[in-house]
Amino acid sequence: MSDIGQQTLQGRRAIVTGASSGIGAAAARELGGSGARVVVNCHSDRDAGEAVAEQIRAAGGRADVDCADVSNENNVERLFDHAREIMGGVDLLVSNAGIQQDAATVDMTLAQWQRVIDVNLTGQFLCARAAVREFLRPGHEHGPSRCRGNIICMSSVHEQIPWAGRVNYAASKGGVMLLMQSLAQEFSGKGIRINAVAPGAIKTSINRDAWDSEEARSDLQKLIPYQRIGEVEDVARVVRWLASDDSDYVVGTTIVVDGGMTLYPGFRGNG
Ligand code: BGC
Repeated sequence: MSDIGQQTLQGRRAIVTGASSGIGAAAARELGGSGARVVVNCHSDRDAGEAVAEQIRAAGGRADVDCADVSNENNVERLFDHAREIMGGVDLLVSNAGIQQDAATVDMTLAQWQRVIDVNLTGQFLCARAAVREFLRPGHEHGPSRCRGNIICMSSVHEQIPWAGRVNYAASKGGVMLLMQSLAQEFSGKGIRINAVAPGAIKTSINRDAWDSEEARSDLQKLIPYQRIGEVEDVARVVRWLASDDSDYVVGTTIVVDGGMTLYPGFRGNG
């Protein structure tokens, strides 16, 4: 959470999807600690969602929990209805929910392909559509923020780095990139700001295998020029900046937060 005590997001009403753990939880805490009121969305683990909301409240913020599957159209409608009921409206969506189901392509089942696309890409479409409808709703008041509404899509370095054995995940994140850019092109004229954050290797449960042994960590660090595995707060602070008026002129951009992973370190001295 921001330790500078700034309340730069005072008056903002946010939904953070996939906020019961990892990057989503850190983003929810960061926004809450900066003055935003937050709906912590989780899929099924309500207790984990409640724990994040409680951390935000304990730090003096305001937070509620809503369990919704972002890949389900009715669930997403209910999530936004609920958020509107609690907060009177929504000005900020951090569309973070995402999963991996890795398999070599020859072994990947259609169900594995479909579930990852459903959550990571269709989920972002459904949430962005609901958010834009909310921002454009007659009577929507966006309070202190300069833009009429703000969407931050959680992408990945794998929107640009191909990833063997994870074609479902890489395809979903490549899709998120053009979804975000197309939405930004469509709605920036209406005062809606839409950007993405593309994290590299951030220490969370999604990539535990890549960092929980000495050997895995050392292999992973070969891919990171800055020589450290990211922490969820590294990403959350960028989310906070994108959510604030400090980034008001940033539109339709992906901010990569990866310790240099996208610099193709394998080419250092090679090629
Ligand atoms: C993935 C992680 C991976 C990182 C860098 C992320 O989008 O979810 O599993 O460690 O990209 O490869």
